[in-house]
Amino acid sequence: MVQTRSTCPYCGVGCGVVIEHDGAQITGVSGDPDHPANFGRLCTKGSTLHLTASASITRQTRLLQPLLRAERGKPATPVTWNTALDLAAERLSTIHQQHGADAIGVYISGQLLTEDYYVFNKLVKGLLGSNHVDTNSRLCMSSAVAGYKATLGADAPPCSYEDLALADTVFITGSNMAWAHPILFRRLEDGKRAKPEQKWIVADPRRTETAAMADLHLPLLPGSDVALYHGLLHLMLWEGFTKPAYIAAHTEGFDALKARVRDFTPRETARLTGLREDDLLTAARWFGDSPATLSLYCQGLNQSADGTAKNAALINLHLASGQIGKPGAGPFSLTGQPNAMGGREVGGLANLLSAHRDLANPDHRAEVARLWGVPSVPSKPGKSAVEMFQAAADGEIKALWIACTNPAQSMPDQAMVRRALERAEFVILQEAFATTATAPFADLLLPATTWGEKDGTVTNSERRISRVRPAIPAAGQARHDWHIAADIARRIATRIAPGRIAMFDYATPESVWNEHRESTRGRDLDITGLSYAMLETQGPQQWPLPEGATQGQARLYEDGRFATASGKAKFADVPFKPLAEPRDAQYPFSLGTGRLRDQWHGMSRTGTLGRLFGHDSLPAVDLAPADMARLKLAEGDLVEVRSRRGSLVLPARGSDTVLPTQAFIAMHWGEEVLTGHDAQGRPVPGVNALTTPAYCPISKQPELKHCAVHIAKAHVP
Ligand code: SF4
Repeated sequence: MVQTRSTCPYCGVGCGVVIEHDGAQITGVSGDPDHPANFGRLCTKGSTLHLTASASITRQTRLLQPLLRAERGKPATPVTWNTALDLAAERLSTIHQQHGADAIGVYISGQLLTEDYYVFNKLVKGLLGSNHVDTNSRLCMSSAVAGYKATLGADAPPCSYEDLALADTVFITGSNMAWAHPILFRRLEDGKRAKPEQKWIVADPRRTETAAMADLHLPLLPGSDVALYHGLLHLMLWEGFTKPAYIAAHTEGFDALKARVRDFTPRETARLTGLREDDLLTAARWFGDSPATLSLYCQGLNQSADGTAKNAALINLHLASGQIGKPGAGPFSLTGQPNAMGGREVGGLANLLSAHRDLANPDHRAEVARLWGVPSVPSKPGKSAVEMFQAAADGEIKALWIACTNPAQSMPDQAMVRRALERAEFVILQEAFATTATAPFADLLLPATTWGEKDGTVTNSERRISRVRPAIPAAGQARHDWHIAADIARRIATRIAPGRIAMFDYATPESVWNEHRESTRGRDLDITGLSYAMLETQGPQQWPLPEGATQGQARLYEDGRFATASGKAKFADVPFKPLAEPRDAQYPFSLGTGRLRDQWHGMSRTGTLGRLFGHDSLPAVDLAPADMARLKLAEGDLVEVRSRRGSLVLPARGSDTVLPTQAFIAMHWGEEVLTGHDAQGRPVPGVNALTTPAYCPISKQPELKHCAVHIAKAHVP
């Protein structure tokens, strides 16, 4: 048996794994005892990676050869790689020539490695000449990006995992990390055991497993986060928990915010959030009057039509109380996907450029054009995820190239997404799995490698870059994502810009990495000192790590200088806005969505293993016992959950984790077990039959967390 060190492909904790294999098959997996994210631990998902890898082969869910669908609705048939690549390039070039660069949308994924992301981003912005490349990370962290940039000046989470044990107060808000980031939660539990006086505040409408372990649970009304943070700042000012000297020396814009939060009295905040005034006071004291306060947050803030304001209002609290730039303190966003951070670093979103550069900045565009050796990078912002699919549904985008993600299940408003996939003239799906909900819509399916086969790097929530190493050869004819993208890019360049063929002459993922790291020179995330060789000898490293440095930097802003032009952090004077779709008489329940402990995304990987259904085996809608009684529902009765966009029928489950007038459905279930209908009665899978496409105007992140629904006993014939 041989052992290969790699990284878990599930969540943004980024645990190190040791893969056991015989060179042909993966036989086991264990936690890497030397990896600084997990020190040998793995959660249920990570510890079953070897089983899901083999199950995807035996259950024939892997895509093993290129397939072409000659006619929509008919089965796809095998073609050679050369045929597939030529066809992809030919169709994309023709659409490019006939309709322009804006007629092509490329939708990628936080599951891709940094090297994959880099090539896709360069292909769209440096070759096709548009910025229509976006990622499913738009659905999970773009509000965190926008929140950091608006306040601290750069998209750089300032903390480290070691801060969990050093904090005196931990404020977990909008995250059920006990389930969504399990190994990080274990580290938090360890810290609390060693330091029992550490206080945990959890703000979450549901009494999740995380909330149940809190010293103080704040069950705020859905969407009232900004009101809570403004109310806490009001109390911190009133009680003297702010740090005027820190505010004066290191920030700007406090007076406007101070005037804003004047109205968020304890009584008014209690009214807006549904919380008790004395709990608000306790939370303000624990947050502000603590040697070190650490906030941990995720989708509860991000997946919101007001996501940027929620992130920024939380960061305001840290700036006002000086809880940043010191051990155990700071606003620490948790990333959902394994490489959402890497995608941000290479600028793989419609509004970003390489190395945290902004598309809107002409100097940044010129720098990237110079690096890539092209005359210019287009200035027109690209379409973000929801906008891209809306444009395809409207006929504006003619070709969709989807890599390593499953929009026909994971995007909000599935009726709209289906219109987009059907109306697009040409859909490429580059995937490891053949059985996703998106596969039937693809004209061309390109088999990609996956965990155990892939080679490159990922970055976790604490800015730590780890190697992903191949243990076994690619399954079937699968190829690496960066390799497929580069092959198609060269073929497109032959047709539309022969001078740019050499831009994609990469021999290895390391050659892509070396180009990427050079693009970071002088930037906040400078990694010019980090090589594959260093990752080999010194293990995973945090950025920045500029040329000459011997190790990465654990904590940012310790000198009180921020990444803004003035060096001062900016308070965000943001108003409180209600939910995009508040409940009303017609739709009287507020539906929340979220994760299960043992499942991942649309279950393409975890759904292949029976044992991962032991924790929660079937979809259900959780309702408060009082609502179960009011609706005359018994446990397991089928109910129809209906929103303005569609409906689902599923069992009702009484649960004291939700409050009356609220409901909860897990996000993972797909068409195999949970098929709903759109407003026209057409079948659509999972909870996104119901969700709204409303999105934050700044981050463009959709409000996947909440929508208003009607719930009634289903009439099943
Ligand atoms: Fe993988 Fe996340 Fe579990 Fe770690 S916590 S083993 S990264 S799923």
